[in-house]
Amino acid sequence: MGQQFYNKLEWPYPVKWHLKNEISTDVLVLGGGIAGSWAAVAVAKKGVKVALVEKGATIRSGAGGSGCDHWESAATNPCSHITPEELTLAMIKDHDGYNNGISHYIECKEGYDRLLDLEKMGGKIRDTEDEFKGAKFRDEKTKFLFAYDYENKFTLRVWGTTFKPALYKECKRLGVDIYDRIMATSLLTEAGKQGTRIVGATGVNGRTGQFIVFKAKATILCMSRPTRVWLFSPGLPGISEFRPPQCMGDGHAMGWKAGVEFTLMERSIRGQWSGERSYPPYGTGNTHNTWYACSLVDANGKEIPWIDRDGNILKSIFQRYRPASGQKFFLKGGGESDFHLYEYQGPDILPVEILLKKGFKLPFYADLPSMPKYERKAIWGLMVGQEGKSKIPILQTYTKAGFDPEKHLLQSYGEGWTSASFLPRERQLFGVPGGILNDWDLKTNLVGLYAAGDQLFASDCVGHAAATGYYAGRHAADYAMRSSEPRVDFQQVKSEKNRIYSIINQSDDGIGWKEFNMYITRIMQNYCGEIKSDELLKLGLKLLEDMERDEALKLYARNPHELIRSLEVLNILTNAKMIIHSCLARKASSKHLHFIQSDYPEMDPPEWHKFITVKLENNKVKIGELPIDYYGSLTENYATHNEEYIKGGIN
Ligand SMILES: Cc1cc2nc3c(=O)[nH]c(=O)nc-3n(C[C@H](O)[C@H](O)[C@H](O)COP(=O)(O)OP(=O)(O)OC[C@H]3O[C@@H](n4cnc5c(N)ncnc54)[C@H](O)[C@@H]3O)c2cc1C
Repeated sequence: MGQQFYNKLEWPYPVKWHLKNEISTDVLVLGGGIAGSWAAVAVAKKGVKVALVEKGATIRSGAGGSGCDHWESAATNPCSHITPEELTLAMIKDHDGYNNGISHYIECKEGYDRLLDLEKMGGKIRDTEDEFKGAKFRDEKTKFLFAYDYENKFTLRVWGTTFKPALYKECKRLGVDIYDRIMATSLLTEAGKQGTRIVGATGVNGRTGQFIVFKAKATILCMSRPTRVWLFSPGLPGISEFRPPQCMGDGHAMGWKAGVEFTLMERSIRGQWSGERSYPPYGTGNTHNTWYACSLVDANGKEIPWIDRDGNILKSIFQRYRPASGQKFFLKGGGESDFHLYEYQGPDILPVEILLKKGFKLPFYADLPSMPKYERKAIWGLMVGQEGKSKIPILQTYTKAGFDPEKHLLQSYGEGWTSASFLPRERQLFGVPGGILNDWDLKTNLVGLYAAGDQLFASDCVGHAAATGYYAGRHAADYAMRSSEPRVDFQQVKSEKNRIYSIINQSDDGIGWKEFNMYITRIMQNYCGEIKSDELLKLGLKLLEDMERDEALKLYARNPHELIRSLEVLNILTNAKMIIHSCLARKASSKHLHFIQSDYPEMDPPEWHKFITVKLENNKVKIGELPIDYYGSLTENYATHNEEYIKGGIN
């Protein structure tokens, strides 16, 4: 019945299968989310021609498109009590070294600059209406509102729903050529060979199906990270994962095929805030991120205490916003802090069994009414109102249904605090997962190719995406200005065009994209779940290769929308294979990487405390390694690579 109805629907746009459009530019930015928009701004400010290619609509696309409630790592803001060096080193230490020292230093060093830029573009970053006058987290002079660590003041509460439209307007003002509704499908390489200079990309229009070739001197990858590898809900695809469903890792797949080097792709964690069994993020009682540091009570109204890193029970609510005794500062927010070295152990971290043994009774509730007025208003109102995906689904919907934060408690679900409990095999690349390996120019291993935002390894957050996007933009622009004219290999273009349109030639009794995605997630859950072994991983790889050889040829698309979705699931398959190759390459278990290898059960043996890298060379997987601190001195390298910026160039 549903299918018949669907078949009768007419496609609302003119379909232009096989038609080709060619565009030439200096810098090509792929992905118009937070990082991509900032990259385009930086290139345009240098007076260099730039094209921005976005699968959705740049004005609201990407994980940051619907908003964000906090801006992390603004270490250089005038109220901050910590330095970019201190903050970056803490982030690195918090992950036992498995972190991106370069990109997080850029975040800590330049994130605040981008925030000030945003304000000039029309984004709201201060409490200009004095709604929070007198609040403990407000600085009266700057009218900044801080989150988490009120003493050290390096994370700001922001009005993130204003950011993406402001950035879009700025791109337009600066003359960035924006190509919305275009999915980038492949990278073009010199002479069509893997591992050579990148000379552009191909794309397909998600409304018309038209094929596009972009020729460029430099290209920046800003397409975020893989999702839907272990988790996919065919009934509710839009909430399959925490991040938007179309940000599923096209950039990783096309980079992999072109010969880009990746690291930490073996790191995955158990699912969070995703899928059909989960309640919407930030829509249940918790203490995480947006809801930091709400009080929680049990079914009898008994408060569950907050405990600091040393096990001391905190006596007042405001202690939750201050470092523990003897601790200079603590990290909080973004969910990337897995080991809480610097963090209070709030009740959301204590296992529910321990709480039950102590006499607490399920269910638990977030107790907004008992919070001080401004703290309550900062959570329910400001932060729930500005966070990604929560303004309408949570704040507006719950308010309309009668939820009153001054009177009502909000229930917690799952096994305690999260929105659902996940199986060990239901995994995600989350927190600070693997991604593209970068140097101090945010360049990849390939000439002419740069990367920024969540596509970089161990990356996360809006401030990080903004700072690295802008940084990659200015370095790519410099390269474009001094590089030779690129030459596109037309054989490579032709074979990509054939690959794309072969999908529309399949009959619709083949395999649909949702089914295909489900197959992949089932293979990954069974063979690349929490406990891994060489045998399991090799079986998984073989099944994925079988799928690629047989089932992939049966994928069909009846319109440009389905064509895009089909190309996506092929990319998910590529990413799944890359993940298994990375898992096979690490012959040791690691607590910090959430990596349990039953053939190598010893946790974190010192000889494996390093980055394992993977890439394709002549279509064969090449494994490499790098020291855990391969990026060298943060301050010296930053200074050497950014003389012009330090002197005040492109502002
Ligand atoms: C619900 C939610 C709340 C969050 N809250 C916060 C917060 O409060 N503070 C914070 O710091 N961080 C927050 N984050 C994280 C933050 O949003 C991301 O880290 C940030 O947006 C990453 O920026 P990005 O540009 O790398 O990726 P994105 O902003 O996701 O942009 C990627 C873009 O690439 C496009 N794209 C993908 N594939 C293709 C393709 N093939 N061709 C063309 N375009 C493509 C996508 O459409 C998208 O626009 C939140 C994330 C979520 C999901």
